[in-house]
Amino acid sequence: MVREEQRRGPRAAIRIVRFAPGERLAISACLLGETCRYDGASKASPGVIALAADCRRAGVEVVVVCPEVLGGLGVPRPGAHLAGGDGHAALSGRARVLTAEQGLDVTAAFLRGAARASELARGARLAILKARSPSCGLGQTEIDGALAPGDGVLAALLVQAGVVCTTDEELAAGRLQVECPG
Ligand code: SF4
Repeated sequence: MVREEQRRGPRAAIRIVRFAPGERLAISACLLGETCRYDGASKASPGVIALAADCRRAGVEVVVVCPEVLGGLGVPRPGAHLAGGDGHAALSGRARVLTAEQGLDVTAAFLRGAARASELARGARLAILKARSPSCGLGQTEIDGALAPGDGVLAALLVQAGVVCTTDEELAAGRLQVECPG
């Protein structure tokens, strides 16, 4: 079972998540080096890659998801942003996802991919997501052409499902510690 505790550092609370064998950890695929971003690149994070390796060795199941690819979008693909609200608004039909250049509506693909990724990550107690993405961004994402408070579509779905979510940036900043058994 995941145990979480808050430890007060000199400036901010540090969240600690301790895994037990058999628990599940979901991670945005691009952080593990998969070349699945809209521009055909990855966002490989050495810290996340090392953490995933440690967790796997300790018997934690690492679930790797790219919701945009799971939604049927290709690589490369046009960049996209939320319009009219964040991922929560998109899930309830109050916002859309549009491609940056042509304004094509790709909301259905984003919703489909988020649902598939959420299903694959079912039971995960922690998700490490790529910051600021219209799918994976947590707490901040691009809305109407500018960074704004809000969650991406997958992040919103996972938050609503009760999954503890964080980003690569929180991990890199030391605001989250993940401890694997062993
Ligand atoms: S949808 Fe998420 S996992 Fe896929 S490339 Fe974008 S940030 Fe990475």
